[in-house]
Amino acid sequence: MYIGHYAAAAVLVGAIPGAPIPAAAVGVAWPDLAWPILVMAGREQVTVDRDDPLQRAVRFDSYPVSHSLVLSNLLALVPAAIFAIVYQSWIAGLVFWLGAVSHWILDLVVHRADLPLLGPGGHDRKLGAGLWDLPKTAFVLEYLFFAARVLLIASPGMYAGLLGGGLLLHLFNANSAFGFTRRNPLGTPARFASLTLVGYVAAIAWFATAWQ
Ligand SMILES: [Zn+2]
Repeated sequence: MYIGHYAAAAVLVGAIPGAPIPAAAVGVAWPDLAWPILVMAGREQVTVDRDDPLQRAVRFDSYPVSHSLVLSNLLALVPAAIFAIVYQSWIAGLVFWLGAVSHWILDLVVHRADLPLLGPGGHDRKLGAGLWDLPKTAFVLEYLFFAARVLLIASPGMYAGLLGGGLLLHLFNANSAFGFTRRNPLGTPARFASLTLVGYVAAIAWFATAWQ
């Protein structure tokens, strides 16, 4: 999931008075900021099928540090504390941490049963409802979910930047839902991970600019 995570960012900044926008924007992205770095460092594993561009063909073999319910969200307390210190506000830390927790919960909807519960360990339970098995439906629902939150929470002056910018970013994932190309243009884990990182840096900049 990509742009759908910003539905959670919208809820956080809408519901928590004094919530710093960057804390929400970075918090909801946090597991997917850590993941590419861990993949490139060889600490987490992903398999990309060169002959299938769809998201469901990407196999998240192991990502207990970035994407487990217990360990990842415990580790997220560290950057949350940094946000609290930088902003001199525990609310900033809380917003960051809730954003990171929301990431795992929303990933649960789309991922196949590959999200670990506890963390490292071969016998860990893995969860995921697998909406990505219906790629076109997942693509449309993700944007509608995001747009519905924005329409409920943001002020009308922000609609254009949030809905338009969000749609533009979401469209970068269109090939992984509709399969326009026969092969996966991001055929290696390193390329897939790098693009994820670039995508989230762009999303953080967009959300922090559009939510004003
Ligand atoms: Zn994720």
